[in-house]
Amino acid sequence: MGLSDFYQRLADKGAPSYEDLEKQAKAHQPKPWGVLYTAPNSDGTRKNCKNCMLWCKTEQCVIFPATKQIKGAMICGYHVNGIPSDKWVDRGVDYVDEYTSGLETVPKGTSCDVCSHYKGNDKAGICNIVQQENGSQAEVKALGCCAAWEPK
Ligand code: SF4
Ligand code: SF4
Repeated sequence: MGLSDFYQRLADKGAPSYEDLEKQAKAHQPKPWGVLYTAPNSDGTRKNCKNCMLWCKTEQCVIFPATKQIKGAMICGYHVNGIPSDKWVDRGVDYVDEYTSGLETVPKGTSCDVCSHYKGNDKAGICNIVQQENGSQAEVKALGCCAAWEPK
């Protein structure tokens, strides 16, 4: 029995069709704001800790405890492009959780064009899992990025 026959049998028994399930899944795709989409870095680099304003050149980050080593080749979902500081300063921050921050090591940095959800060229493309307000797949820049980034 082929996959379409299988779904047809389910549909005959009152289950939603494959097309309906696909439509439902699409209806629940997040908008760019829901995944914190950010525009490309102004200098054309990919996003990682060494170009984040929260990073310290002492391999620390102000939103993590001073004891946590944060290398320049890492990245997390709180990235804000800007100039790192020379040293870690206690700003009275309630530190973020390492797991939920999405902290990981990505030596080449993150961006849409090296994300498994991207379809496009070296300038711009579309994202398969994020939608614009009008329901079409989100138009993204090759060097933009978001919290749903996944490696190719
Ligand atoms: S861990 Fe996150 S917030 Fe800290 S420097 Fe890296 S990208 Fe920025
Ligand atoms: S292509 Fe990847 S990084 Fe870019 S918006 Fe889509 S999920 Fe986010």
